[in-house]
Amino acid sequence: MKDDMSKALYERAQRVTPGGVNSPVRAMRGVRDYPLFAERGEGALLYDADGNAYIDLLNSWGPLILGHGHPAVVEAIREQAGRALTFGLASRLEVELAELVTAAMPAVDEVRFVSSGTEATMSAIRLARAYTGRDVVVKFAGCYHGHVDALLARAGSGAALSALPVSPGVPHKAAEDTVVLPYNDLFAVEDLMRQRGGEIACVIVEPIAANMGVVPPKPGYLEGIRRATAAAGVLLIFDEVITGFRVSLGGAQEAFSIQPDLTCLGKVLGGGLPVGAYGGRREIMERIAPQGDVYQAGTLSGSPLAMAAGLAQLRILQQTAGAYRRLHAVAEALGAAMREASRAADVLTTVQVSHGLLTCFFAPGPIEDQEQAARTDARRYRAFWQAMAAHGVLFAPAANEAVFPSLALKDEHVEQITAALPQAFRAARDAVR
Ligand SMILES: *Cc1c(COP(=O)(O)O)cnc(C)c1O
Repeated sequence: MKDDMSKALYERAQRVTPGGVNSPVRAMRGVRDYPLFAERGEGALLYDADGNAYIDLLNSWGPLILGHGHPAVVEAIREQAGRALTFGLASRLEVELAELVTAAMPAVDEVRFVSSGTEATMSAIRLARAYTGRDVVVKFAGCYHGHVDALLARAGSGAALSALPVSPGVPHKAAEDTVVLPYNDLFAVEDLMRQRGGEIACVIVEPIAANMGVVPPKPGYLEGIRRATAAAGVLLIFDEVITGFRVSLGGAQEAFSIQPDLTCLGKVLGGGLPVGAYGGRREIMERIAPQGDVYQAGTLSGSPLAMAAGLAQLRILQQTAGAYRRLHAVAEALGAAMREASRAADVLTTVQVSHGLLTCFFAPGPIEDQEQAARTDARRYRAFWQAMAAHGVLFAPAANEAVFPSLALKDEHVEQITAALPQAFRAARDAVR
């Protein structure tokens, strides 16, 4: 595999950018010695700066649900670019996308667009605190909600309820009002709501956890959280930045028939351009300025280019009969192929597939929380990743991540991936022997 150009770009990048990358996981330290520099995408394929082609199973961490460069999305951006790039004023496309989002998600009466998932969760938490007049935020270990101070928190030691910062620069005070509970442990939520419900503004959760690898909610878990939060007057925030418009048009809330109070969106919503959003019940959303008193703003919020891209992508998803069935089937097929190939290679894996998302853990399963997810063998994943890359298949460059299949994946791509698996799992097996 050629890599001279990626290597040269990395050397230049390191001099001018921290670690040579603009988001840490792109350094690919779990699987390579330096980043792959991407150059071009086309349908299911991604080409790097050295001219290597890969079947892309990352799809920019989810946004490219139609694959790279879908003609309708590209054309919508081109057309809008001819009209205007940005106004900093209200414009028609924002109304159209908001109408589409609120129609797709019954729990969302009103939606406010921002520019990233991080901004969405940050704003939703501010709103929840204002609406309830309470400060404490509850999150779950292994769920990721962007780099918001209050959410960059991990559980305190022992019985301590207040969390600790996970990064220098996050004030202890910012983490103190956060409680971190284990995922999939309904009793922990019920217990906390009983004991401290009156102090808690919101519970934020990934309804299908996909940032520790894919960890689906246990049956009854989300329903139980909904019940316990409602009883305590605590707002339930579904962080659907990954699951929104991916597991179904109405997101995980549709798939599980649960109505959260607030919903955070991003990734697929923007069609590959930077968009986030938060929305929910009207009486809560009305607290946002200028209607209400909770401040939140953005110079490029509702960017016409991004609205056009998001609208084009979501309309295709809406109009393509069986789009989600196809996506789920591709994920199931990949999952089944991975289970079979790993068994044949005699390497222990747990492949978890949920609504078009999947992860192959190199660990015993089932994996239900972060502690179990953390047992995945990163050395085996590194060997697996490298072997797949050598066969022209790009998996996420870290072990505890999801595969994000796109609708551009054709049967021939799935076959090509399947054909490469036996050797990759043998490499994974031999990596630790
Ligand atoms: C990616 C992600 C975010 C953060 O979104 P950014 O656009 O990267 O800021 C928040 N929540 C979840 C569940 C995510 O996967």
